[in-house]
Amino acid sequence: MIASKVSAHYTSQSCVKCGHTSKANRPNKGLLFRCECCGYELHADLLGSRNIALRTLLVRQDWMSRGVLSASPDVSKDETKAEILQRFSELRWTLDASPNLADKRVSAK
Ligand SMILES: [Zn+2]
Repeated sequence: MIASKVSAHYTSQSCVKCGHTSKANRPNKGLLFRCECCGYELHADLLGSRNIALRTLLVRQDWMSRGVLSASPDVSKDETKAEILQRFSELRWTLDASPNLADKRVSAK
């Protein structure tokens, strides 16, 4: 079994639906995540785990294509960190990838 290290930056503040990242997405710093941009709502822990799952897939994809594991880049360099966060911000959790009832209920407006 292989464990990958994934940056946890903003995992509880990044919308998995539209990518909007803001502290304001966590009203009163509670357990509910609500995207101020698209209105997507989810328990903050679930949101965080989805973001981490997406990031893990991205890291593994890089690993497969480059043959190099870059899961632990030098994040002390602002450029690298910004670049990684930019790539993470492009990740989306689509309904196709998550066919559970909770998501369908959220999307049915
Ligand atoms: Zn959103």
